[in-house]
Amino acid sequence: MIPTQSALETLAVHAGREELMALGVHALPIDLSSTYPIRDLQEGGEALERMALGGEDKSNPIYARLYNPTVGRFEEALAQLEGAEAGVAFASGMAALTACLLAAKQKGNHVVAVRPLYGGSDHLLASGLLGLEVTWAEADGIREALRSDTCLVIVESPANPTLQLVDLEAVVIQACGVPVLVDSTFATPVLQNPLKLGAAMVLHSATKFLGGHGDVIAGAVATSQAWATELRKIRVITGSILHPLAAYLLHRGLPTLPLRVRAAQEGAKFVAARLVAHPAVKAVHYPGLPGEDPAGLIGTQMKGPGSLMAFDLGTFEMAQEVMANVKLMTPAVSLGSVDSLIQHPAALTHRVVDAAAKTKSGISAGLLRLSVGIEAPEDIWADLEQALAKASVAAMQKAAVLETVAP
Ligand SMILES: *Cc1c(COP(=O)(O)O)cnc(C)c1O
Repeated sequence: MIPTQSALETLAVHAGREELMALGVHALPIDLSSTYPIRDLQEGGEALERMALGGEDKSNPIYARLYNPTVGRFEEALAQLEGAEAGVAFASGMAALTACLLAAKQKGNHVVAVRPLYGGSDHLLASGLLGLEVTWAEADGIREALRSDTCLVIVESPANPTLQLVDLEAVVIQACGVPVLVDSTFATPVLQNPLKLGAAMVLHSATKFLGGHGDVIAGAVATSQAWATELRKIRVITGSILHPLAAYLLHRGLPTLPLRVRAAQEGAKFVAARLVAHPAVKAVHYPGLPGEDPAGLIGTQMKGPGSLMAFDLGTFEMAQEVMANVKLMTPAVSLGSVDSLIQHPAALTHRVVDAAAKTKSGISAGLLRLSVGIEAPEDIWADLEQALAKASVAAMQKAAVLETVAP
């Protein structure tokens, strides 16, 4: 048993592993069964019915789309890290968001969402695919956007990709009782616990920090038993449960989550300070920098500024050259891995977002998003610095050519 009131570091190591001793094993077992023996037809049928309605039946899983013990242990661990009654894991972050929207839609047809959101989340909402009407609001305009049929308020903090922080307690107050979904992917349970601030559901693209090693696609929601029941019901109906191998990798990585998040955060502080001082960089968005956290949410809502940042190089060409010239870090979408990743939101992750919304959110042509890994901060900066130098030379050469051909 884990002592109650254990610190996050202790929970990260032990949560979800409570039954291993009784099972006589030390490492997490992976159960790959797609189906399970029916011991008794009457009991089996009743178990299936319970799970089809969103209940759990660990002793009678019936079929792996309904329940899987390897997934169940990871869900229990995540719930404990978020201080939630329950966790529900999905095949991807987008599958998790889809389930949250479908669960909420049972109470109304309207959603209020605060931009910027992850490009895929923006796309899902803007597509109208789920039959929900969406009002895009500023974080301080949520109350005015509410309707009698509003079923959910959606915010992301820190927001992808501009690192804007949203005051979650203020959002919950403005939502006037409408459930608030917080995408806390950038923060992880190490830096922020939105349920404690009144959110109804916390969503993680577990593909990112929770996985942490760039080898899993997964999503997870931490929430109340009541919401979890609805989410599991939708997961059974739509078939979006997480694969047990992915659940194993996620759970295996949890013990080092606090270490990884803090190490990457130290690296990010170092890199952000140097970016600010670099002549080619027009602006740096990192919640740990002076002026980037006007509401003072670091130290209250969030335990630290995290390891993501965005910086503006003024032009698409400069951003393109930097991405093309990094050697240590990988030019790639995704984030929260042990290795540093750099990408261009306007061309990639947020490509499908409405053009005017992109401009309004500051997703400009010269903006790069950097996810700092746990490499030595000096090495990350050396790589970025040499790429910035090459990009600056290329820009000067181009300007010189333009000058010679000018009439
Ligand atoms: C990546 C991401 C998602 C989507 O998650 P997938 O696992 O890629 O489906 C949702 N929200 C945020 C903030 C993300 O970064």
